[in-house]
Amino acid sequence: MNPIIMAVLLIAGWGIFAYSAWRRWNLMMVGAAENRADQPGVRLAKTLKYAFAQVRMPRYPAAGIAHLMIFFGFLVLLLRSLILWGRGFYEPFEFWVFGTDNALGQAYSFLKDIFALIVICGSLVFIYYRTVRKLERMTLSTEGLIIILIIFVMMVADIFYDGALIAQHGEVSFVGYEPAGSVAAMMVQGLPDGALTVVKHAGFWIHAALVLIFLNLLPYSKHFHVITAIPNVYTQSLKPAGCIPNLEDIDGKLEREETLGIKRIDQFSWKSILDFYTCTECGRCSEQCPANTTGKKLSPKHFTLDLRDFLYKHDKELVAAKAKTNTEEDAGTEGEAPEYHKDLVEGVIDPEVLWACTTCRACETECPVFISYVDKIVDMRRYLVQERAEFPDELQMAFRGLESTGNPFSFPADDRAKWAEGLDIKTMAEHPEAEVLFWVGCSPSFDERAKKITQATAKLMQKAGVDFAILGTEEQCTGDAARRAGNEYLFQMFAQANVEVLNGYGVDKKLIVTVCPHCYNTLQHEYPDFGGHYRVVHHTPFLAELIRQGKLKPTKPINERIAWHDSCYLGRYNEVYEAPRELLRSIPGLTLVEPTQTRDRGLCCGAGGAQMFKEEEEGDQRVSILRTEQILETNPDMICSACPFCMRMLTDGLAEKDREEMPQLDIAEILWESVSPEDAEVTES
Ligand code: SF4
Ligand code: SF4
Repeated sequence: MNPIIMAVLLIAGWGIFAYSAWRRWNLMMVGAAENRADQPGVRLAKTLKYAFAQVRMPRYPAAGIAHLMIFFGFLVLLLRSLILWGRGFYEPFEFWVFGTDNALGQAYSFLKDIFALIVICGSLVFIYYRTVRKLERMTLSTEGLIIILIIFVMMVADIFYDGALIAQHGEVSFVGYEPAGSVAAMMVQGLPDGALTVVKHAGFWIHAALVLIFLNLLPYSKHFHVITAIPNVYTQSLKPAGCIPNLEDIDGKLEREETLGIKRIDQFSWKSILDFYTCTECGRCSEQCPANTTGKKLSPKHFTLDLRDFLYKHDKELVAAKAKTNTEEDAGTEGEAPEYHKDLVEGVIDPEVLWACTTCRACETECPVFISYVDKIVDMRRYLVQERAEFPDELQMAFRGLESTGNPFSFPADDRAKWAEGLDIKTMAEHPEAEVLFWVGCSPSFDERAKKITQATAKLMQKAGVDFAILGTEEQCTGDAARRAGNEYLFQMFAQANVEVLNGYGVDKKLIVTVCPHCYNTLQHEYPDFGGHYRVVHHTPFLAELIRQGKLKPTKPINERIAWHDSCYLGRYNEVYEAPRELLRSIPGLTLVEPTQTRDRGLCCGAGGAQMFKEEEEGDQRVSILRTEQILETNPDMICSACPFCMRMLTDGLAEKDREEMPQLDIAEILWESVSPEDAEVTES
């Protein structure tokens, strides 16, 4: 076409892009080190599933399918751009196997045309969402619209370039392997040759130049995810979903006077910065976030965008400061910290945003590009709690209780096993050979209502002949709430003490059963970092298995509509969805109903992340009330859950809705009623 113009375009386009990419790379390297290169096989499999097959995208069907259309279209059309750049130097250029005179070339030509049409349709869907329907969850910026229009025009230009080319070569008819091009040829065939040349050149140069303009807009727009999404999915955390990253060596850090938690933007890891780059601003996270949907200040999307904007605003200073610390010993700054190193909680992220999070993981489960939230929010809470001693007043009581009595409610530690009086249950000290350790937890040990769940579970285990024991007064809080509230010091204290007791009884060779999903999650996923490697099971799958084995037989019909509520720490954290449903369906007469938001989209009860021990942040509504309303919409006779925290929150929700008469039972209590009608006493909360 014109080798000089093409050479200038390519050198300028790729040169400017290389500069932008280099800037972004340097900025990413400002972040703290983190190893995300382990287990390449697992990472590759996840990348194929989530980045290439994009299995999360269709959770929002229309936008998801439109995105898939554009993504696959782009993969196929990448080759086309290379061919067109080649034709800029030599007009008949083809990659040797892709000429339309052979079957492979014709197959590619067909695919290329089909995908160009698919990309046009996908772009139209997004143009519709941005201009007509205006989806609230998406960022409706002009930049986003411009990029979609560029994609649209690129495709149309390419098709008309082909059309003019075909029309100039003689008689025009519909050609199967060039469906879009031959139809475009029919549209332009009446034009004089000179006009066809103009259409051909315009189509060619518009496409070739727009590809390069598009490439250069990427690093400065939300469409940067076109480049970063695949690496971001590849470098996702491979730790269990419920595991908060360990704040390594807390005592050593204190001795070295390092910051505990995250105070400055450059204390996030490079992977967190890659997260910030990758946000597509689709807003799926915020739409599912219970804090956001109930009007709190927290919107996960904006949490990411605020940090990203701050990072971009100070990119040059941050890169320069990093270069200085790499060459000079002293990383510290004398006097007042410069703006780019300022405390993020002073003007970038409002502490209220951090305290509103229930750690439910609805955002993380929804995000198509695997951006994490709970780890970042907990890390920032760690800074607030451990460095600034700034946290909601009510948490002080929980921390004090934990320190003095080993439970956040400040009940006397000696009363921990009182729930078991009269039930003939041995402690590990009395029966160290027990096959199962029943880890009770704080709420189920002390709270009058939750104790009934504990007792029902213990009686079911006795009825099934399970050889179990409890720790009694040797048990202490797992530290779940302390950790999620940012008090890592307290959490590590409990983790170390509990692991010592558990390992002392050889529990690593036994099975641990819990009634609390939070205890289950912490013991299973977070204690390994402290030398505690256990097999842990929540009572729901454990009881379901006892039914399967015929050791428990639910016989008494329960002719009720029972609404099931998924706990976040059981469901989204540990993917226990089937066991409770299987258990409930095994009870004769029972009709299982579910709220519209259920399973991995189940709405949080509002208790997680230490919310149970503090007042909710200001908003339009309490999370527990919204969840209660959703459950009541199913018109149930009874509500069932499998988490003492959820039960507490739903009890509050029922009280607020003046529906205290609605029975609410734990799954173990319902099973006990059906298994042992002679002993059961329906407990209403
Ligand atoms: S973990 Fe839950 S509450 Fe926290 S930001 Fe994500 S969706 Fe919102
Ligand atoms: S964090 Fe993920 S879900 Fe949320 S807006 Fe960004 S890409 Fe979308």
